[in-house]
Amino acid sequence: METNFSKIQLKDKDNKSSEKIFRKCVHCGFCNATCPTYQLLGDELDGPRGRIYLIKDMLEKNKPANEKIVKHIDRCLSCYSCMTTCPSGVNYMHLIDHGRTHIEKTYKRTFGDRLVRNFLSTILSKSTNFKIVAVLTQFIKPFSFFFPKKIREMIEFMPKKFPKKTLPKMQIYAARNKKKPVARVALLTGCVQKVISPQINEATIRLLNRHNIEVVVSKGIECCGSLNHHLGKSDLAKENFKKNISIWYDEYLKNGLDAIISNTSGCGTTLKDYGFIFRSDDSFKKKAKKISELTKDIAEYLDNKVKLNFVAKSSNEKKYRIAYHSACSMQHGQKIHKEPINLIKKTGNEVLEIADGHLCCGSAGTYNLLQSDIAKKLLKNKIENIEKINPQFISTGNIGCITQIANGTKIPILHTVEVIDWYTGGPKPEILS
Ligand code: SF4
Ligand code: SF4
Repeated sequence: METNFSKIQLKDKDNKSSEKIFRKCVHCGFCNATCPTYQLLGDELDGPRGRIYLIKDMLEKNKPANEKIVKHIDRCLSCYSCMTTCPSGVNYMHLIDHGRTHIEKTYKRTFGDRLVRNFLSTILSKSTNFKIVAVLTQFIKPFSFFFPKKIREMIEFMPKKFPKKTLPKMQIYAARNKKKPVARVALLTGCVQKVISPQINEATIRLLNRHNIEVVVSKGIECCGSLNHHLGKSDLAKENFKKNISIWYDEYLKNGLDAIISNTSGCGTTLKDYGFIFRSDDSFKKKAKKISELTKDIAEYLDNKVKLNFVAKSSNEKKYRIAYHSACSMQHGQKIHKEPINLIKKTGNEVLEIADGHLCCGSAGTYNLLQSDIAKKLLKNKIENIEKINPQFISTGNIGCITQIANGTKIPILHTVEVIDWYTGGPKPEILS
């Protein structure tokens, strides 16, 4: 794609890297074929090629975003399916991130939009805030019909119950053989996940400890920053990024870390991008690069680094038919697909493939709250494809997908790490009991 940035514009590091990406695009449009929003809406501007054009035009002409650009960019799920398809290696993720930051800086959204986006940014990135709001929401749920549609849908999405934690809150969870752990890893316990599904972190810790791996939950680390990053709130996101980088890098230098484990693929994708985000920041680039290199999704780590001790189940234990849902951030963002499937297969159960598995379920961070009509259509298609293969439960590696899919079906849905924990000596997940 031809570009027309001036020399002065190219002195800006973000323009410079985006220009390189634009130049790789050859307008072939292959990406449109696998874009969920293009498939649903059929508008060129709701596909990756059209969005790339909109972002290029806005940045090149250094013009403020307008309503049309915002509409089509907001509709993008950041699912990165287009990146898997693109034969030219266009890094769409970095373009859409740049576009969103430019929109946030140059476009004044309506009061209602600003209110909702600021609310999400404040509430979801801090587990304590989220818990307080979620509890309060229970009282207003019966009166939700009084509220405007967007607020009503957010109220409906709030969890109805909060599972009890079974592991005490600690900073270091010792390996089975305390004196001789085989590895030492940090775990990102996340913000919303630890409130609504604490069993996922607990299964991760138990499983790693049982395989003689020490787990560090560093004080002060909460949100990975992707929530604000995807809302275009780059300054707020960078506060999260810098705090996390400093804490983990310190831990790495002082006590050593073999990996930073993420069990939420949306967050893992962002952690793996810290190196790029701080590429021009002299005081952070080395540290950020190291944190990205250390980051591994739990399935990636287990499949490649851990010799798992699977426990033989009694002959009475039935074999399950498990549908594996590949989260977009996992398969397209991190290119991890075969690892979780390998792991589930090792449990001796049957793994079922979901038709159109490359397409998003509509969760996509806060997308299901901000673009609920499109998200509902994507969810409906996903559920139809899942129910067609009649699984006994669904397994996936991202809390966003778990919440979204659970809203559309009665089939139980588990995090993959809960399944692996169970088959290596952990408890049977409560949802299956
Ligand atoms: S990230 Fe997903 S929704 Fe956005 S353009 Fe690419 S394929 Fe389409
Ligand atoms: S597939 Fe790649 S090169 Fe072709 S239009 Fe899409 S982004 Fe551009």
